[in-house]
Amino acid sequence: MSAGTAWKVRTVSLGSDLAPLEHDGDDVDSPRDECGVFGVYAPGEDVATLTYFALYALQHRGQESAGIAASDGRRIVVHKDMGLVNQVFTDTGLAALDGDLAIGHCRYSTTGASSWVNAQPQYRETPTGGGLALGHNGNLVNTADLARELGVPTGNDSEIMAALLALDVDVSLEEAIVRTAPRLRGAYSVVVMDEGRIHAFRDPNGVRPLQIGRLPTGGWCVASESAALDIVGAVPVRDVEPGEVVTIDHNGLSSRRFAPATPSFCLFEWVYLARPDHRQDGGSVLYARRRMGRQLAREAPVDADLVIPVPEAGRDAAAGYAAEAGLPFADGLVKNRYVGRTFIQPTQSLRRMGIRLKLSPVREMVEGRRLVVVDDSIVRGNTSRQLVEMLRSAGAAEVHLRITSPPIANPCYYGIDMASRAELVGADLTIEEIRAFVGADSLHYISLDGLVDATPNQRERLCTACFTGDYPIPVPGEHAQLAQLPLDLSAT
Ligand code: SF4
Repeated sequence: MSAGTAWKVRTVSLGSDLAPLEHDGDDVDSPRDECGVFGVYAPGEDVATLTYFALYALQHRGQESAGIAASDGRRIVVHKDMGLVNQVFTDTGLAALDGDLAIGHCRYSTTGASSWVNAQPQYRETPTGGGLALGHNGNLVNTADLARELGVPTGNDSEIMAALLALDVDVSLEEAIVRTAPRLRGAYSVVVMDEGRIHAFRDPNGVRPLQIGRLPTGGWCVASESAALDIVGAVPVRDVEPGEVVTIDHNGLSSRRFAPATPSFCLFEWVYLARPDHRQDGGSVLYARRRMGRQLAREAPVDADLVIPVPEAGRDAAAGYAAEAGLPFADGLVKNRYVGRTFIQPTQSLRRMGIRLKLSPVREMVEGRRLVVVDDSIVRGNTSRQLVEMLRSAGAAEVHLRITSPPIANPCYYGIDMASRAELVGADLTIEEIRAFVGADSLHYISLDGLVDATPNQRERLCTACFTGDYPIPVPGEHAQLAQLPLDLSAT
């Protein structure tokens, strides 16, 4: 863990009594994002509370832990803990985070255990006698190499990133970023602060989002999604460009480039990960999802009575499908919004209830009807199978699945926890085999071209690796994964 630099985290821990969280406790078969980040420089404002609200808006990006680091210009104070944002922070905790600048982070772990130590912001002392605090969204693919260079065990990529930066600080943190970032391989949208400045930088591919906003009072913010800028009253200004580091301090905002931009924005952010009110590259996620639904209706029309979404990510696409097909649209499934990461750790018997813990059919809506069911993706296939069974048990006459992403055939190494290749139902089976497995009357995935056209991006500026296997950032050892055994359906 240590790179020869001792921890000096001034932390107010609330002593959470939450049990260690497990990855399979709630969403049984959904991709999961890794993190959300936020940073604000706004002297005279309550930066900790602004950051708290921003993390609230980013909660969907990570629900295992949350943290805020703030500085009054002399010292950095970090408060982080396991749990949702509103469980980690109280008025008293926020009041201890006094200062002119702050960064915040909410986490879902894909590298490193889900634990307090791995919660972010990560804090490190620097050789100049100061400190830095760092929050990261993404995933590095050369963590093992970097750990070897540092002489530490391979673990959390964000922790290693913070250690590398801290060791490299001599003139300034900005100089350390410009020197260190080119050594990092993978996806990283990062906010990092010292006692007086916030820096935000993004990998040359810009896989994960990171946007800059301006507060009406003159302060500056950076956030994973525009919804976090909206909630604090900031006006979105522009993206942090791939390969760019921006610095925010008493001089305002300045920019440097540490690498040329080779954009490969995550296509799956458009499908599932980002909030519908997020705006990216001049487009709206909500409207993109409506266009996905319309495209599906054109690609795969079906005689049906009703279009229903799998909440929540399927909602806007289902509305688009219904509008294009001229079919009624209704909520045929109700989501239990209180089932989340803090749900009691399910016993094995509860786990067998699977999706029933989370979704319930509305019998009055589905009984006797031929349904078009719109969902964002199929990962292992077990959730879709249970969903179809549940709708049939509630009396559905037919169930036609329409999916707003192409089959997921390859794992993501850039910060989304989907499944290993051996678990992915789309890796080995034909669409007809998947249809038979999930028990639907028909199944259609949107075409890749149709999906790309629904976004404002051009295909060459997108990462499509989980669908195509075309990884924009080489992944060491990926070729070995391709030699995996055929999928065993009995294990899904
Ligand atoms: S592999 Fe898929 S989920 Fe991962 S960054 Fe690329 S498009 Fe996004």
